[in-house]
Amino acid sequence: MFGEIKGLNEECGVFAIWGHKDASQVTYYGLHSLQHRGQEGAGIVVSDGDKLSTHKGLGLVTKAFKEGELEKLQGHAAIGHVRYATSGGGGLLNVQPLLFQSQTSGLALAHNGNIVNANGVKSDLEREGSIFQSTSDTEVIAHLIKRSPHPTLEEQFKDALSTIKGAYALAVLTEDKLMVAMDPNGLRPLSIGRMGDAYVVASETCAFDAVGAVHEREVQPGEIVIIDKDGMRSQLFSKPADRQICSMEYVYFARPDSDVDQINVHTARKSLGKQMAKETPVEADVVTGVPDSSISAAIGFAEQSGIPYELGLIKNRYVGRTFIQPTQELREQGVKMKLSPVRGVVAGKRVVMVDDSIVRGTTSRRIVQLLKDAGALEVHVRITSPPITHPCFYGIDTSTKAELIASTHTTEEMREKMGADSLAFISIDGMLEGIGRSSQDKNCGQCLACFTGNYPTEIYEDTVHPHDKVMNS
Ligand code: SF4
Repeated sequence: MFGEIKGLNEECGVFAIWGHKDASQVTYYGLHSLQHRGQEGAGIVVSDGDKLSTHKGLGLVTKAFKEGELEKLQGHAAIGHVRYATSGGGGLLNVQPLLFQSQTSGLALAHNGNIVNANGVKSDLEREGSIFQSTSDTEVIAHLIKRSPHPTLEEQFKDALSTIKGAYALAVLTEDKLMVAMDPNGLRPLSIGRMGDAYVVASETCAFDAVGAVHEREVQPGEIVIIDKDGMRSQLFSKPADRQICSMEYVYFARPDSDVDQINVHTARKSLGKQMAKETPVEADVVTGVPDSSISAAIGFAEQSGIPYELGLIKNRYVGRTFIQPTQELREQGVKMKLSPVRGVVAGKRVVMVDDSIVRGTTSRRIVQLLKDAGALEVHVRITSPPITHPCFYGIDTSTKAELIASTHTTEEMREKMGADSLAFISIDGMLEGIGRSSQDKNCGQCLACFTGNYPTEIYEDTVHPHDKVMNS
């Protein structure tokens, strides 16, 4: 994954388990396999039936949980979370799961996505006396549950969900219950699996493989699943809308070994590459992909075009994260440190460089330069997502519209800026076809908002960045 230096970052990964004596250990391994979805912080809340206990830390899962921490988290049920901070900023207070203790019971929440009406709901709650301990949009859900007048926790949860709008794959743990829910559009992935008698829930199915669980099914749009001593039951809390799962899960975010909505991510990426080769063929000597997320697509491009696939770029896995470096110059130096061209592969060759997306354009420019410095005669850039022209409000940090190069530049202007010999993006229909959806069907199953500006939910005035309000006005 290359997200932190591209400006396109997934917000979070969620893992949950019910009915396992080593719940916190299993959750730790589950979170480890979801690490690509967030590296800012990690946390686990565990229930032993009487009380909830937690540990959270900043950084990677292995850093957040030092030796001995897991042993303190004893219980049969747990929820865990890895976070990339988009909404609410960084800091330990915003690392999830968020845990709320009252005199009678505890409530913990882990959330992937973004609540688009969080600011308005929060203002209403504050006027009525609520005090918030974090700046995370997830905390409003806990307040809504606690303030609901309904008699049972399940009804309180449903009541809270009826107020919030946006994207959420959500896990809630109390001393005696695990509840998970998916927003009515099903914007983010969330699956249920079995591990012997235990139930497991994860943002991506790769986490099931990591812990030895078997994938059973996806959590459906508008569905709540409740797991407790009586087993698992499910109900709809909202009339489900047509599923609109995030297209970028297939293009870029999810791990290639995950299945998202029953479609394998590697297979989808490979056919995106094939589709690109059909749409915008080019004469070249080698095809290479930007590691790690574009390797599958590059293999597909090579297969379709008959041009050999080569490892033209190598990622150095042991370099620190680039986005903590403050200046553009240092950031670009970071890119250079992270990727190395394989001179023997690209020197004297016409190279097709397959990448998944262009956000600000600086990274692509830098990679083209790396290849040319290594002796590539020509660099032809092929992007397996359509131009990103609109910001995402559903938990993906695509920054503001003003920073999205495709919203202010034509393809030819972008090509010129990055110094490429040619540049092409996949078409929207081609992307849908590549993923395996019907482009003829307007209910294609995918969210396309960052390419089209057609958002599947209402968007609230205070969700839009001030820069974009000026641009739009
Ligand atoms: S707007 Fe784009 S990044 Fe955001 S959920 Fe939709 S497809 Fe995914």
